[in-house]
Amino acid sequence: MTKLGFDTRVVHAGTAPDPATGAIQTPIYQTTAYQFRDVDHAAALFGLSEVGYIYSRLTNPTVAALQARLADLEGGAGAVCCSSGHAAQIMALFPLMGPGRNVIASSRLYGGTITQFSQTIKRFGWSAKFVDLDDRAAIEAAIDGDTRAIFCESISNPGGYVTDIAALAKIADSAGLPLIVDNTLATPYLCRPIEMGASLVVHSLTKYLTGNGSVTGGAVIDSGRFDWSGSDKFPSLSAPEPAYHGLKFHETFGNMAFTFHSIAIGLRDLGMTMNPQAAHYTLLGIETLSLRMERHVANARRIAAWLEADSRVGAVSYAGLESSPWHETAQRVYPKGAGALFTFEVKGGYDACVKLVDHLKLFAHVANLGDTRSLVIHSASTTHRQLTPEQQIAAGAGPDVVRLSIGIEDPEDLIADLDQALAAATG
Ligand SMILES: *Cc1c(COP(=O)(O)O)cnc(C)c1O
Repeated sequence: MTKLGFDTRVVHAGTAPDPATGAIQTPIYQTTAYQFRDVDHAAALFGLSEVGYIYSRLTNPTVAALQARLADLEGGAGAVCCSSGHAAQIMALFPLMGPGRNVIASSRLYGGTITQFSQTIKRFGWSAKFVDLDDRAAIEAAIDGDTRAIFCESISNPGGYVTDIAALAKIADSAGLPLIVDNTLATPYLCRPIEMGASLVVHSLTKYLTGNGSVTGGAVIDSGRFDWSGSDKFPSLSAPEPAYHGLKFHETFGNMAFTFHSIAIGLRDLGMTMNPQAAHYTLLGIETLSLRMERHVANARRIAAWLEADSRVGAVSYAGLESSPWHETAQRVYPKGAGALFTFEVKGGYDACVKLVDHLKLFAHVANLGDTRSLVIHSASTTHRQLTPEQQIAAGAGPDVVRLSIGIEDPEDLIADLDQALAAATG
């Protein structure tokens, strides 16, 4: 059969009617453990010579169906799900890093990721070097003998920045490093980083993939293409593993090495496991991903253009607008749209911003994004509060900007709500 189209695969990939009952939706396998056929079967599973279910901290059939769907949609060899997007980021770095090692990270990232990378990972002896990824010389200057990965977001939260993934993948390639792309805001509907040369993709499934603000979840999808044995930089994957009698993951599992390591070592010992209920909700959400993203993007384009034309509004930072410095990159790299999240300046600064947030009725004031409903937040006083003023501005979350996550409602209603709130905030 020829490769099915993306809109077919969001519905079908990774799942089939339940062999026991014919149930058309993947059952929620609410179980902790799985009965072994006999002692030889148990020994084979524990020795990784046979693949199967042992214990739900490692693998679960509902979660496995979601993993297969995500690997398919991103064009990867394998995927591992975990309890949140932030867990996924640790799971992506864990096989690569070690004490003294560093990751080159974009200076434009989700606020929580900047905090995780600039503070928390130091406790593992890891560090991040934040670089403007449009500055090739700066990236190359930052790479040193201890660098183990480059990390970016495809579409970046919140400042309307988009990454030229193919260009960055070339830099990573020539340095012998894997490129990790957080594809949360674009989703595989708008962007498939692996097709552009990324080695690993991470997701917060909490956002557009589940799509309705009901679940926290994360995933790491491996392209299966990085040569972990090409240097001595990645011993977790290329060298003998003491916890498995000297087994070498890359040599034994080939393009599934990263995925098997993430389950057999990462989930086993870090335990950031996704539960089967969460996997079920995310599978349901993904079925409508294409329809939702199409509407999210159409609404975002229309509302961004309306705001840009309004005299009460300063700059609108959205790569879907011609005024954006990243408009050309967005058209080339993200032809189906630049996502549905953007910021805009309210004339009147900080005070006008917080007033606007308080007067919006239809937009929910929450610290989330990628929901069917439209959401608003003032990043500088909330999600990006832990950052220095310089980091806030570099991340596109300065004090005079408000962030919108545009939902799938009638755009006329969203515009009317913004209109009355702008009147109240600037009147
Ligand atoms: C939300 C988000 C995360 C973190 O995901 P959680 O599921 O909240 O842990 C990481 N990256 C981006 C781009 C996000 O939007």
